[in-house]
Amino acid sequence: MGPCAAQSTPAVREGVSFLPSPGSLPSGLRKFAFVIVDFHTHVVPPRMKASRERYLARDRTMAALLANPAALLATAEELIAAMDEAQVDVAVTLGFGWTDLEVAREANDYLLDAAARYPKRLVPFCSVNPAWGETALREVERCARQGARGVGELHPDSQELDLGSWDVMGPLVELLRGQRLILLTHASEPVGHDYPGKGKTTPAVLLELVRRAPSIPIVCAHWGGGLPFYALMPEVQAALRSTYFDTAASPLLYRPEVVPTVVRLVGASAILLGSDYPLLRPERQLRQLRAQPLAAQEREAVLGGNAARLLGLSEGPKGDG
Ligand SMILES: [Zn+2]
Repeated sequence: MGPCAAQSTPAVREGVSFLPSPGSLPSGLRKFAFVIVDFHTHVVPPRMKASRERYLARDRTMAALLANPAALLATAEELIAAMDEAQVDVAVTLGFGWTDLEVAREANDYLLDAAARYPKRLVPFCSVNPAWGETALREVERCARQGARGVGELHPDSQELDLGSWDVMGPLVELLRGQRLILLTHASEPVGHDYPGKGKTTPAVLLELVRRAPSIPIVCAHWGGGLPFYALMPEVQAALRSTYFDTAASPLLYRPEVVPTVVRLVGASAILLGSDYPLLRPERQLRQLRAQPLAAQEREAVLGGNAARLLGLSEGPKGDG
């Protein structure tokens, strides 16, 4: 965090870290400074891309987000090409908030397989519907055994999932805590234009979740639907100690000044570069971020330092091991 941020923002995100504190990783930190991590990308099996109509009929989230034939789908190879173009080192590959269990398993298997093929470039998450109960927990365990580092993206609206319901979310949060996994959820602005899949996962809903799950890192996508703006309220600021916000789709939602504004509100340590590829190419997001007036340390934290620490990339993609 830069000197100016240190005065006005709390040392957020220190409450929950699965890794040794930065001070104990001096050589690792040097590497972090040069790593660029796109924390929010989506890839799907080639078969899903080729037969999207069939999958649209099976999965409600797919139908909500991707019914428009112009909506893009990409494979891991296409993502790697986009990463190379933008000089992104590592990408977190997410699923969608699937509603069909077989679709979820197929997509999860693909993300795990892609990460095995590109172990220095891709970090897999898996996606489930927490409302599946035990079945969801078993699927998360299965994926974690094969290398998944988190669960997401959740799409609570199409998944008909109440993030505030602890009957549903409690067991998942407990599992994530035990397995040291990260949760990433879609987020919706309560105001402004509509778009496919926007939904109603608003700051109020997200705040309820993060308040009840302070023991795991939770990434609220798309700037948390504006949740950081309410960090001006002390009780909200306190509740966001283990919450991260990614920049996914930012150029479609906000003016570029959102970047320094949110840095001032919650600190650079809470922000993760995310493109929402293939909706947007990482190149575009990086260009916007680099144009913002941030201190060098803040920029490095947002572009990859925070993500590297969160994901434990010290042995990292550019590392020797
Ligand atoms: Zn999203």
